Amino acid sequence: MAKSPETEHPVPAIGYASRDESGVLSPFKFSRRATGEKDVRFKVLYCGICHSDLHMAKNEWGFTTYPVVPGHEIVGEVTEVGSKVTKFKVGDKVGVGCMVGSCRSCDNCSNDLENYCPSQILTYSSKYYDGTLTYGGYSDTMVSDEHFVVRWPENLPLDSGAPLLCAGITTYSPLVYFGLNKPGMNIGVVGLGGLGDVAVKMAKAFGTKVTVISTSLKKKQEAIDKLGVDAFLVSSDEEQMKGAMSTLDGIIDTVSAEHPIMPLISLLKSHGKLIMVGAPNKPLELSVFPLLVGRKLIAGSGIGGMKETQDMLDFAAEKGITADVELIPIDYVNTAMERLLKSDVKYRFVIDVAKSLKA
Ligand code: NAP
Ligand code: ZN
Ligand code: ZN
Repeated sequence: MAKSPETEHPVPAIGYASRDESGVLSPFKFSRRATGEKDVRFKVLYCGICHSDLHMAKNEWGFTTYPVVPGHEIVGEVTEVGSKVTKFKVGDKVGVGCMVGSCRSCDNCSNDLENYCPSQILTYSSKYYDGTLTYGGYSDTMVSDEHFVVRWPENLPLDSGAPLLCAGITTYSPLVYFGLNKPGMNIGVVGLGGLGDVAVKMAKAFGTKVTVISTSLKKKQEAIDKLGVDAFLVSSDEEQMKGAMSTLDGIIDTVSAEHPIMPLISLLKSHGKLIMVGAPNKPLELSVFPLLVGRKLIAGSGIGGMKETQDMLDFAAEKGITADVELIPIDYVNTAMERLLKSDVKYRFVIDVAKSLKA
């Protein structure tokens, strides 16, 4: 008989798990593996709440394995390292993002693109090499092969920096890869949520001008005053959208739900690029004609490799980029999820795990 989550490994752990498609999270006892020779064990201090956690807790993408302990923006302090660990020592501050394993030998892995490895192992709800389920950062303790652990830059705050581990790399990577990081370019960011906030900051740090495309005026004033965005469009305002036609070199679309993309394609200049990073669970409608006429491109992008994640963190530390966060205790997580669904957070919830999760 298969062992239970609580007994399959030697190290006791507690967390919050969703056990079915209601997505409701509740306390969950499980276990973590012993520290292997290449493993880093750490006490979780903070964990961001990404909208992917919500999609997964409710099985909206159809591949959740329950019970799921979400959380892939995990920051902590090292408590133990394996005998062959070279990059970390006890007491170091570290982070783990969206993945904890990959094949390490395919073309993508060989090119520092573990995020595109067909055998990528996600931080939660994935099967680890040993066949057991992975559990994420809504938990007191974490263990990961050092290859999938990043060094925390000294001057980067732990709480407001945590979201960089997913929101940061997911927006930094396509800006760089698609050449949307040239000073003076005009970049659009669709959806001012957790990813959108960091996308704006990354794009501004690259020296581009930023237009936010949002569903309402609610976030406008703060976006201009605090984030320094150069323009703010409400997507349902046809006049405004028309006035901004053919003005953008590239767009990062972070929207988590079904939404029209044809008006976004109209905002692009010829040869402009629409990069999808949001992951709605329903197909979007696309008419190709406007793509042909302007040689426009639509592409997708998924997180980033480990080397690039470290580069991104170092870049964020150098430029002073963190997320705007609302720090919450873990027993607030269900309310936080409800508010996240209503876009009622500026702009990322971060769980104060160490303070609020007690065995
Ligand atoms: P979030 O904080 O909820 O932000 C999404 C934003 O999209 C909202 O704040 C809202 O912005 C806008 N929005 C929501 N519903 C909308 C609708 N029906 N129509 C138009 N706009 C809508 O979520 P997040 O954590 O940033 O994640 C965003 C998406 O990216 C999720 O689907 C997540 O799974 C995905 N994701 C992908 C990757 C990747 O590797 N590609 C990595 C992380 C996350 P306004 O209020 O401004 O309209
Ligand atoms: Zn995420
Ligand atoms: Zn691989």
